[in-house]
Amino acid sequence: MTETFQLFIDGEYCDPATGEWFDTINPYTGKVWARIPHGGQDDVNRAVDAARTAMTDGPWATMTASNRGKIMRKLGDLVAQNADRLAALEVRDNGKLLAEMAGQLNYHPEWWYYYGGLADKIEGTVVPIDKPDLFTFTTHEPVGVVAALTAWNSPLLFIAWKCAPALAAGCSVVIKPSEFTSASTLAFMELTKQAGFPDGVWNVVTGFGPEVGAQLVEHPDVAKITFTGSDTTGRKIYESAARGLKKVSLELGGKSPNIVFADADLDAAVAGAVSGIFAATGQTCIAGSRLLVQNSVKEAFTEKLLAIARDAKLGDPMLPDTHIGPVTTQPQFEKILSYIDIAKAEGARCVFGGNRAQGTDMEGGMFVEPTIFTDVTNDMRIAQEEVFGPVLSIIGFEDEAEAVSLGNDVIYGLAAGVWTKDIARAMRMSKALKAGIVWVNTYRVISYMMPFGGVKQSGIGRESGIRAIEEFLETKAVWISTSDAPPSNPFIQR
Ligand code: NAD
Repeated sequence: MTETFQLFIDGEYCDPATGEWFDTINPYTGKVWARIPHGGQDDVNRAVDAARTAMTDGPWATMTASNRGKIMRKLGDLVAQNADRLAALEVRDNGKLLAEMAGQLNYHPEWWYYYGGLADKIEGTVVPIDKPDLFTFTTHEPVGVVAALTAWNSPLLFIAWKCAPALAAGCSVVIKPSEFTSASTLAFMELTKQAGFPDGVWNVVTGFGPEVGAQLVEHPDVAKITFTGSDTTGRKIYESAARGLKKVSLELGGKSPNIVFADADLDAAVAGAVSGIFAATGQTCIAGSRLLVQNSVKEAFTEKLLAIARDAKLGDPMLPDTHIGPVTTQPQFEKILSYIDIAKAEGARCVFGGNRAQGTDMEGGMFVEPTIFTDVTNDMRIAQEEVFGPVLSIIGFEDEAEAVSLGNDVIYGLAAGVWTKDIARAMRMSKALKAGIVWVNTYRVISYMMPFGGVKQSGIGRESGIRAIEEFLETKAVWISTSDAPPSNPFIQR
């Protein structure tokens, strides 16, 4: 049975103005399972109008921040109650393992609790101004309508990351999820209604990036864009936003180094290397896709890694014993296989995998074998460009200086891992690595409390953590004269 979804605009589910839908595929079965509305300019206009009105005329505009927070926390409770259902929906749509998505959805409410609690703690400051007879203070106001554009790998997590601080700040949102995985975002809107958000605070317009995504970004009443996706699209969005002088945060790609020193707990490091690249079938921006291993332990470490890779079970992402699920989209599947060919042609040695994976557990799905390359040099494309798949490049290094130099020698700077028992080295490395996130003796752990984002071409701005709310606020400076005396000279400013 194919399900049909609707857009969500101004508190109501509705058909797209275009009257068109497109198919969405279950990456495991390769079969169409739902129809997604093909939104267009009219839908974008209606959604942005509803969001703008909610911020100017509706109850959202006058609601106390404490009550805003209460509704957000209620949403957190509803997500908790529906976590398993939402996780299963995500798995059907993007093919990630149920074990991972269930963990993600059960943790998801924390963003609503944390930012719901923060909503009424946005305080201005009284400024002890350097001039007489004035009382001066700052207030922080919502920036305006927020456009949230998300990637296909964790749609509901990205909603929490973007919308929780935006709504805590008092903004309203229009979401454009990836055309490959729009279903969960649309289904999520039911919970926002149940939580009691006023109409227009949440809106979702689905469709294709270069059409409806671009129209949303260009809309003059959108004040802030928060985007997760590829650096290519991020650049287009930044250019478009510059024309409208809009605020932007961009969470883009990565080519993160996972750096193993000889003095590390090698068993822990090998587990970190495996989850770093094979979790989520490598389809994460923080994938530790470059494994830098100190030469003295490189061979032994590679053997440990191969032993685990050999046991990897590929198949149905809904089953608890599956380790690696399908690739989410056809273009991504082709891109991964083409990078494997590029790496082979460049002279990297494929010591494991390297092909499309097939078998009875994988019929219909787009599977790639967990793939490990050795003899990689950092100038190869396989070491420089984001593959976004289960493809690992192993690169040797001699000493700390070389590890830093190789680690930083990419255009990206999202995350880095360091494995060592030497605390002084851990401190030096975490300072020297040009990355928004450094994990020491762990990898891929995230929290609503910790900032997430990259430097260099991995993006602009941070999500999560207490300061993420500032991305959705404007500061106003208020000057009040406390003097009744007329100015001595009205032509001169005091
Ligand atoms: P993508 O750039 O193709 O698409 C992301 C979103 O942008 C989608 O909703 C898409 O429809 C929309 N879009 C596409 N073209 C557009 C345009 N011209 N104008 C406006 N919107 C447009 O990315 P993807 O393939 O969905 O996701 C994979 C990428 O996302 C990878 O590069 C990955 O590293 C990155 N990513 C980053 C993070 C992070 O937090 N840093 C997290 C996950 C994924």
